[in-house]
Amino acid sequence: MQGKKIQQERLFINFQLSEYVPADNFYRQLSQILDLRFLYKSTAYYYGSEGQKSIDPVVFMKLMLVGYLENLTSDRRIIRTSRMRMDILFFLGYDLDEEFPWHSTLSRTRKLYGEDQFVALFKQVLKLCIDHGLISGKRQAVDSALIRANASINKMVEKQVMADASIYSQELSDNIDEEIAGQEKLIRKDNRGSTKRAPASNESHYSPSDPDARITMKPGKPMGLYYRSQVSVDTASHLITYIGAFPGNAADNVSLAKILERIVGNMQEHNIQVKEILADTGYSSGEAMRSLADHNIEGYIPNIASYKKDRLEEGFIYDLENDRYTCKNGVHATFRCYEKLSKNKKLQRKIYRTSPEDCMNCPIKSMCVNYMGTRRIKHSLDKPLYDQMHKRMNSDKAKLFKKLRSSTVEPVIGSLINYTGMGRINTKGIKQANKCMIMAAIAYNLKKLLKYKVELCLNGLTLL
Ligand code: SF4
Repeated sequence: MQGKKIQQERLFINFQLSEYVPADNFYRQLSQILDLRFLYKSTAYYYGSEGQKSIDPVVFMKLMLVGYLENLTSDRRIIRTSRMRMDILFFLGYDLDEEFPWHSTLSRTRKLYGEDQFVALFKQVLKLCIDHGLISGKRQAVDSALIRANASINKMVEKQVMADASIYSQELSDNIDEEIAGQEKLIRKDNRGSTKRAPASNESHYSPSDPDARITMKPGKPMGLYYRSQVSVDTASHLITYIGAFPGNAADNVSLAKILERIVGNMQEHNIQVKEILADTGYSSGEAMRSLADHNIEGYIPNIASYKKDRLEEGFIYDLENDRYTCKNGVHATFRCYEKLSKNKKLQRKIYRTSPEDCMNCPIKSMCVNYMGTRRIKHSLDKPLYDQMHKRMNSDKAKLFKKLRSSTVEPVIGSLINYTGMGRINTKGIKQANKCMIMAAIAYNLKKLLKYKVELCLNGLTLL
C-alpha cells in the first residue's frame, strides 16, 4: 500500500539537540577539540563595564569559523545557514528557538578585534596539529595567490583629486565662492574621466572604498584590485604553518624575509627548527637569500632568469680570488666601480670591464663589446649566494623538491580559494584581509586535523 505523509505540526515537543547530533559529526568533534575560552580574557579590553551586552566572543569566533568551513562569504549567509543547521547550533551552544545575533554584529566585531586575536586562534590550531604529530615543520613550501579585493577598479580616482578636494574644503571654510565653483568643476571632470578608462597605475590612482587594494596584473588573470596571500605549507602533512595578506603588487621576493620571520617564529614556539624552504623563481633575490642564510635555512629557489644567462654561457669565467672575469680568449674584465640600482638606492652592483686595447684584435669583437670597444659585465653583490643556489638547484634533491613544492602548496592554495571562503576578500583594508586569510587557513587546518583523527579511528588506533 502506498504511504502518504501528512504534515501536522506539533505545538510542544520533547527535544534535546545533543541527541540529534551524531558522535561522528564534524561540528560535534570540533567542539570537543577546540577550546576558545581564552577569548574572554584576551578580548576583555575591547569592552566597557556598562551598557548593552556584546556578542559572546566565543560565539563570534565560532560563527566566523562556520563561515569559512562552509565556504560562506557573506555574514547574512553565515547567520542564515547557522540557524538552519542542528549541528552548527550545537557547536555554537544555541538552542532551536534561541535568538541569533544580527548579521551586522559580525562585521562590527570583526573590525573591533585586532589581528592578534585571529593569530592567537591560528596558533592554537597549529599547536593542536603539532601535538597530534601532524607537522614535522622541517621543510616548508611557500607560494602566493592573488585574491580579489572588495573594490572596483572602475571606481578608482586620481590621487590628485584628493588634493583638490582638500583645497576645496579649505576654501569652503574661507568662503571663497568663486573658487569653490572652479574646484567643483575640476572634481566632477576628474571623476567622470576616471570612470571611463582604466586607471594608469597605483602611483596615480587609488580606491576610495579600499585604499589598501592594489592594481595587479598577472597572466591569466584580469587586471583588477587584489591582495596577495602568502602561504607556507608543511610538506609532510600539507598543513598551513603561515598565512598573511600583502599588497597585491608586492613582489614575492621582497616579502620573503618577512614570511621567513613569521614561519620560523611559529615553529620555534614548538622547538621546531625549519631547515628547508622550497619556493619558485618569483622568490629569488639577493635579499631573500641573505634572509635564508641569516635564519640558517637551506633554500631551494631557482635563480632569476637573468642569472641563467650568466657569463658561463657566454664564455666568461669568474675568478673569486682576483675578483675578475676572464673570457675564452684569456682577456680579463676587472672590477671598475659600484653601480646603484635606480629603484632602490641601497642596492648596488659591481661593474667589470675589459680594456679596449685587449679586445681590439678579437674576431668576435663586433658581437661582444659595446660602442666604446669594451666588454662590460654587471655583477650582483650577492653573486656568491646566487652561485651557491645555482649549484644546489642542479642536484637531484632539488629536482625532487621542485615536484614536491608544486604538489604541496599549489593544491592547498586551490582548496583555500575554492572551498574555504578565500575566493574573494569580503572586507575592506589589508588588516581585515589578513583576518579573512587567517580564518580560511584555520578552517583548512581544522578540516585536515579532524580528517586525520577520523582516519586514526577507522584504523582502530584511537577513539574519537
Ligand atoms: S671581445 Fe674582448 S672580451 Fe669579448 S671575447 Fe673578444 S677578447 Fe674577450
